[in-house]
Amino acid sequence: MENCLFCKILKGEIPSDKVYEDENVLAFRDIAPQMPTHILVIPKQHVSSLAEADQLTDAQLAACLRAIREIARKENLAEGYRVITNCGPHACQSVPHLHFHLLGGSQMAERMG
Ligand code: AMP
Repeated sequence: MENCLFCKILKGEIPSDKVYEDENVLAFRDIAPQMPTHILVIPKQHVSSLAEADQLTDAQLAACLRAIREIARKENLAEGYRVITNCGPHACQSVPHLHFHLLGGSQMAERMG
């Protein structure tokens, strides 16, 4: 997608602090971290949000979750982590390319919302 921020990161047109890449997935550190570890995991195939995930293959979607697990292991998040995907305006999604926030590194509040 021509004007998509995360597609530009994928193409290397915008720099990122990459932590993981495979054929289906890219992961990089969030530019404005909300936790000691805050990583964004995105499918390379552009879809705007989880609401459009039917446009991904099962392998592409599963690759995101497998990557999250692998990154959490490499980032030493054995004490736990949280995975969030904001979907649409009610959830305040600001970048319309599906992404999973991987958050960890310190104790989080029990509830969200
Ligand atoms: P969301 O609000 O769920 O759409 O999350 C978008 C996330 O992208 C936010 O946490 C931003 O801090 C992050 N972000 C925006 N621009 C960049 C960038 N150039 N590199 C890394 N993270 C970014």
